Amino acid sequence: MTDWSPRTRAVHAGTRRSQYGEVSEALFMTQGFVYESAEAAEARFIESGPDEFIYARYGNPTVATFEERMAALEGAEDAFATASGMAAVNGALCSSLKAGDHVVSARALFGSCLYILEDILPRWGVEVTFVDGTDLAAWESAIRDDTKLVFLETVANPTLEVVDLAAVSALAHAKGALVMVDNVFATPVFGHAIRDGADVVIYSATKHIDGQGRALGGIILGKQQFIRKTVEPYLKHTGGALSPFNAWLMLKGLETVHLRCTQQAQTALALATALEGHEQLAKLAYPHLPSHPQYEVATRQMDTGGTVIALEVKGGKEGAFRFLNALTIPVISNNLGDAKSIMTHPATTTHQRLSEAQRDALGISDGLLRFSVGLEDERDLLADIRSALEVI
Ligand SMILES: *Cc1c(COP(=O)(O)O)cnc(C)c1O
Repeated sequence: MTDWSPRTRAVHAGTRRSQYGEVSEALFMTQGFVYESAEAAEARFIESGPDEFIYARYGNPTVATFEERMAALEGAEDAFATASGMAAVNGALCSSLKAGDHVVSARALFGSCLYILEDILPRWGVEVTFVDGTDLAAWESAIRDDTKLVFLETVANPTLEVVDLAAVSALAHAKGALVMVDNVFATPVFGHAIRDGADVVIYSATKHIDGQGRALGGIILGKQQFIRKTVEPYLKHTGGALSPFNAWLMLKGLETVHLRCTQQAQTALALATALEGHEQLAKLAYPHLPSHPQYEVATRQMDTGGTVIALEVKGGKEGAFRFLNALTIPVISNNLGDAKSIMTHPATTTHQRLSEAQRDALGISDGLLRFSVGLEDERDLLADIRSALEVI
C-alpha cells in the first residue's frame, strides 16, 4: 500500500474482509463485542490489539476501516473518527489543552469553531489570542515561548482567505507549538496539510467526504502518539464516537471523493472565470484566480482552488435575497462540498450570531454569498446564475 497513490488509497486502504469475502465494506452495526471466555474479556480490557474491540464508543471495525483509509489518504500516522466535524474540533482542542495554556488562532473561522475558541476555552482558563490569519507578522508577534498550539482554517469560511500554512507552521514550530488545522475547504483531495507542517489535521466528513448530504461525521489525523495517548482517551470517555452506519457512508463517499472534488473544482474555476467582473457583482473571490489576494500561496498550497466561490452581489441584503430567490438550480442551504450546488447567505444564517462589527472585521458583508459548486452541468449553472443576477 505504501506506493499507492492517494486515489487508490481512497478506494482500498484499511479494508477488513469478513469470512464471507464481501466486496463492499461490511457494516458492523454493533455496539458491543462478545468474548470467547471470561479470561479473554479480562485480557481485552488489560490491553486490546488494533483489531480487538470492546465497545463502539471506543472503536468498531467499520469505523476503524474509515480511520485507516483516511490516515492513508492524508499521509498521517493515525486517525480518530468522530460524530461530527465539531466533535473533532472540540476533541482535538480539549484533549490537548488545560487551564493556563496559551493558544493563537486565526480570527476568520467557521462559526462553531469560533465559539469554542472565543467562548468555551477562555471560560476554562485557556488564553486565546486571535490574529488576521493572512498576516504573518501578526502570527509572529502573537506566538509566545509558552504558546501551546496554533489553530487555523487553511482556507477561511466564508471569505476564502488563504493562510500560508508552511510559513505559520515554521513560526509555531520555532516556539515548540503544535499546529492544528481545520482543512475542510482545502479538502483531503487538494490540500497537503501534513506536507506543509500541520501536526494535527481535522475534517468535517459531513462536507466533501460524504459529499452527498446524508450524514454527519468528522475525523482527527496526526501522529500515532497524539491520536492514541491524547485524543483517544478524551474522546472514548466523552462520547463523540462516529456511528458505524455513518462510517460506512463515509467509506462509500471516499470511493468517489477524487472524482467529485476534481469535477466540482473544475466547474468552480470555470464559473469563477466566467462571472468575474459581472456588472451585478461587487466582488468575486476564488483562490485560484490571479485576482485572489493570496493567489501565490493558494496555488502553492492547493492543487485546485477548491469547490467554493465567494460572491458579493450589489444591493446588499436585498440584492442577495433577490438573487437567491431567483435561482432555480443551486439550493438555499448551508452545507458545502455537496453534489448539489448550494448558496448560503452567511450574514443572515451561519454568521448571524456575530455582531455587525465582527462581521465587518471578517469581511462578511450583507451582499456576500457562499457558493458551494456541485456536480451539475457547468452551462446550466452559468445560465441560471446569470439570469438570477439580472433580477437584482
Ligand atoms: C462544517 C464545518 C465544520 C463543522 O462540521 P460538522 O460536521 O457540521 O460538525 C467545521 N469546520 C469547517 C471549516 C466546516 O466547514
